[in-house]
Amino acid sequence: MENILEINDLNVSFDTSAGKVKAVRGVSFSVEKGEAIAIVGESGCGKSVTAKAIMRLLPSPQAKIEKGSILLNGENIVLKSEKAMGKIRGNEVGMIFQDPMTSLNPTTKIGIQIAEGIIRHRRISKKEALEHAIKMLELVGISQPEKRIHQYPHEFSGGMRQRVMIAIALACRPRLLIADEPTTALDVTIQAQILQLMKELQQKTDTSIILITHDLGVVAEMCSKVVVMYAGEIVETGSVEEIFSKPTHPYTKGLLKSIPRLDMDKHEKLSTITGTPPDLLDPPKGCSFYPRCEMAMKICAEHKPEFEAVSPTQYSSCWLKHPMAKNRKQFV
Ligand code: SF4
Repeated sequence: MENILEINDLNVSFDTSAGKVKAVRGVSFSVEKGEAIAIVGESGCGKSVTAKAIMRLLPSPQAKIEKGSILLNGENIVLKSEKAMGKIRGNEVGMIFQDPMTSLNPTTKIGIQIAEGIIRHRRISKKEALEHAIKMLELVGISQPEKRIHQYPHEFSGGMRQRVMIAIALACRPRLLIADEPTTALDVTIQAQILQLMKELQQKTDTSIILITHDLGVVAEMCSKVVVMYAGEIVETGSVEEIFSKPTHPYTKGLLKSIPRLDMDKHEKLSTITGTPPDLLDPPKGCSFYPRCEMAMKICAEHKPEFEAVSPTQYSSCWLKHPMAKNRKQFV
């Protein structure tokens, strides 16, 4: 199938007073038309930086795309001017941010906030744009949309504000929607409703989705492919079935073990991955997960494992796949 997005060898760094933080290193993945993929990993792993790089919303001048390409519909947007990106954001690519209360303008009525993007990209009248805003509120399941467009964000509940964010992101029918932790601030019932809504909209509008989350539980709900990031790199990728039933990377396994299960004893403690991610001012020479990995071998500290195929659709970077690792003593 046709790729809507193709990222090749993306490297992003941040200039800080302590030096250059290599936040994203050698990231490559693609999203097909109509496909929903998830990028998972703990805080600081580079998933949100990757999303902001796609939107070209990295803070300037501190952040810099050092290397790599981001092909949107075959065009490298890394090279586009700010003016050209203004036409892409909200139009070809929509984004739902984590916290709707800080992403929505508290002083502007909801209808205007939805209509703004439509007026900018579609060049239609304010009246027509507001009619479209009513339709969008209806689409995301908000009752009495004719009345609601005249209200302010503080008059909406958390779940409704997140629905408004989805309405804004989808108002111009983008072909790609990036949802960065879209349900983190919501309780589990509302979280399930929002995920269900995004899934329905994806099917209705054939929009491709990149869901960014630290919660593997929400991934199975709506994605077909998973990209696992650790310390600015992709460590494993595969179909949802492969990642959930046959994970190969110790970090992916650790993430899966940390999801609460229904059959857990009430006294059973949740599994955690001990330690902290490496300092990206000076990333490790070998495998980035080495200091926290229970399966680590001597070679892991010295040499970076290749990102290799485990199956036609699953890839992983871990020395455990090497034939010699079967006799771990040779490697330890
Ligand atoms: Fe663990 Fe080594 Fe695999 Fe890294 S390469 S995840 S340290 S076994």
